[in-house]
Amino acid sequence: MNQSTLEAALGLTAPWKVTEDRFSVEEKRLDITIDFEPGSTFSCPDCGAGGAKAYDTQERTWRHLNFFQHETYLHARVPRVECPQGCGIKTVELPWTRSRSGFTALFEALIMIMAREMPVAAIAAIVGEHDTRIWRVLHHHVEEARREADFSEVRRVGMDETASRRGHNYISLFFDLDMKRLLYGAEGRDQDTVSAFALDLRAHGCDPDQVRQVCCDMWPAYIKGVNASFPNAEITFDRFHIMKIMNQAVDEVRRQEATTTDVLKKTRYLWLKNPNNLTAKQRRKMDSLTGHNLKTARAYQIRLTFQELFKRPDRKAGEAFLKRWYFWATHSRLEPIIQAAKTIKRHWEGVLNWFDSVITIGLLEGFNSLIQAAKARARGYRTNRNLITMAYLIAGQLKFNLPT
Ligand SMILES: [Zn+2]
Repeated sequence: MNQSTLEAALGLTAPWKVTEDRFSVEEKRLDITIDFEPGSTFSCPDCGAGGAKAYDTQERTWRHLNFFQHETYLHARVPRVECPQGCGIKTVELPWTRSRSGFTALFEALIMIMAREMPVAAIAAIVGEHDTRIWRVLHHHVEEARREADFSEVRRVGMDETASRRGHNYISLFFDLDMKRLLYGAEGRDQDTVSAFALDLRAHGCDPDQVRQVCCDMWPAYIKGVNASFPNAEITFDRFHIMKIMNQAVDEVRRQEATTTDVLKKTRYLWLKNPNNLTAKQRRKMDSLTGHNLKTARAYQIRLTFQELFKRPDRKAGEAFLKRWYFWATHSRLEPIIQAAKTIKRHWEGVLNWFDSVITIGLLEGFNSLIQAAKARARGYRTNRNLITMAYLIAGQLKFNLPT
């Protein structure tokens, strides 16, 4: 093969040049040797001072992009130099790779592109490398890109948890609601997780004091964490999580009542839907139950009325509506509904704050489902670190420093 073509393809600059290429059809591999002329000088990797001669060298090999079906490897003796400015003995920087990687920069770029589209196990199979080596590349570039990320414009934050490690524990995800990007992900869902997020914001140019709005669910550790780490932030409880509490209450009423009557058999999903989302068959089923004076039907009506709250024109109207609803719900003699109403009462201001902030974490639920889908494709990640790295890749809007 023409060596200057190879040098151009590899992006080599003086003093580096291709000295040999061996093409083995039987082994399906291409081996390219790169070297420098005796007496060449290099720059110190620490201070940039030029004119440093090789002190000694070490043979190394890197996996490069396949040449068609042929695995391609680069070989070079990597020089160490003695810095003329006194930095000491240093290994020089190489134009085709980063330090401590067994892959060329272009090979890593290919891995990063594939990682957005397919599970890591599939990438590993395609390129014929162990998946831990692939994960190492992803971790490196995500961490490097995150170091450069600028959070100085963040004002409104959404937080949510996602199940990890096949559901055995949780990770928390923190999003910028304006830029619609993942800011931070970490194991756990306690107060410390929130304070670690605040520290991370600070490290990226965002004073936690500038965060004015936070949207989350009613998980007490999140509320405590926000109050402790974001003193100027007002919490809005996510309306979809509030509705989940109402749905669970209706479901509990149904579960209890089903022990006393057979007509509720196979109706569980009926009561979790809104009337206009029912199929024709479900609609007929629900109509057939109206004569039975069911507690479940009453609980369902209380739930349907509750969601009308979010159609009130403003906070004042919303609060008046919520007070009337609360009175009705707490006098329903349906214990799960009374408990749900009391939960809402305890979070009163944060429920009503929605009228001013109009924020939800519906966006996060969308990201969450993307992340869960990636997780399902990967049949669960072996480590939370892998899951968080994948979340950054999907939703972090990170700028990667990679050759194209
Ligand atoms: Zn130096």
